[in-house]
Amino acid sequence: MLPIDPVETLRSLIRFDTTNPPGNERPASEFIASILRDAGFTPELVGPDPDRPNLVAKLAADPENCRHRPLVLSCHLDVVPADPERWTHPPFSGVEADGCIWGRGAIDMKGFAVMALTTILRLKSDNIPIDRDIIFAAVADEEAGTEFGSRWLVENRPDILGDDPEYVINEVGGFTLHQHGKRFYPVQVAEKGVAWLRMSVRGKPGHSSLPQSENAIARLGEAAAKLSRARLPWHVSDPARTFITGIAAHAGFGAKAFCERLLLNPTLGPKLMKLVVPKNRQPNFEALLRNTATPTVFSAGSKINVSPSLATLDLDGRLAPGQTADDLIREIKSVIADDDFEIEILQEFPAVQFNSETPFFEKIRDVMAQRDPEGIVVPSMIPGFTDSQNYARLGADCYGFYPLKLDPELDFAAMFHGDNERIPIDGFKWGIETLYETVSEFCAP
Ligand SMILES: [Zn+2]
Repeated sequence: MLPIDPVETLRSLIRFDTTNPPGNERPASEFIASILRDAGFTPELVGPDPDRPNLVAKLAADPENCRHRPLVLSCHLDVVPADPERWTHPPFSGVEADGCIWGRGAIDMKGFAVMALTTILRLKSDNIPIDRDIIFAAVADEEAGTEFGSRWLVENRPDILGDDPEYVINEVGGFTLHQHGKRFYPVQVAEKGVAWLRMSVRGKPGHSSLPQSENAIARLGEAAAKLSRARLPWHVSDPARTFITGIAAHAGFGAKAFCERLLLNPTLGPKLMKLVVPKNRQPNFEALLRNTATPTVFSAGSKINVSPSLATLDLDGRLAPGQTADDLIREIKSVIADDDFEIEILQEFPAVQFNSETPFFEKIRDVMAQRDPEGIVVPSMIPGFTDSQNYARLGADCYGFYPLKLDPELDFAAMFHGDNERIPIDGFKWGIETLYETVSEFCAP
């Protein structure tokens, strides 16, 4: 018997519109806080903005039983915008239909909020003697850079995260990935880094009735086109290799060692990718093996009859493990091959990688082997970043483990930030039990 009805709780949680910006996470965190208080917890709501608190609650181990550093279960309550015109059911209604709960945040990531909440409520109501503190964190502002959320918590209140948690469980991983007729469960252990860049070039200002070859917009446009056609150098990191070959090894493409050797080869690697990875997933896998730089914000000119003296283009750069913003700038400059361009670093943080050879990761493997005996757990990497970027600074091993059993028909990747986001109820319930078993078997052996 579960301490809450997870389906109804998730439907209620979806109905709080936490679109970020502005986020406005307070009503959603108050809703969870009241459930926790009713169960005897003392949740804290903290943060730099009263409308956007981070909720943290602790299930403490008995002092005489407490032998390990804490485990944190972390979710974010904000969601990305949704255009109701494009949805079958209104995105903030939490409709139950066709075996799914529909709504913005159903997958990313209010579903996990309910899983993690159910886990600590159940551990408490069942009076399970745990050997470490388990901390539940429902943070704000993940979708807009984490400034008010996990970054603030890590920098200002590491104490309520247990100061030095050993593990953090977060998105993105633990779901079924159907490939080559097999069921994989990627468990995320690495995230790419960020290098947000501003590229600028000067042009000859003057009256635009007299066209100039030195037009800043035209020059920047050409550079952007070159960049989007370019394929930046191949950087094979350990986590990318482990993930891609972990899948290839089960795909009937010969020995794992052979695939690994080919993947390391900058010429053959991209070709092998085409053989072992389905087309719709190739951009995702390729992004794991290269730095990328996507043009996102363009700015130039202020008047229709004046040639601009300056044009700038912001690039969302992402770094493979081991790479820096300076490395990426060098790669971009060699593509553009024009010394007049300047590139400035707006923000940079490196990729993070966590150890997948830990007792907790072993526990994930054990439990998954019981929950889906044919499923294959693979340590994985994502091209984006999550709150784990910040939790890494506490010295924790962070895993994307949000267990969900999915049918092949559901395009899971399209659910993240896509239209008609929804979570299959059966897979969600399977995930609740899976997360509970993993955490309870690990913390109460
Ligand atoms: Zn998310």
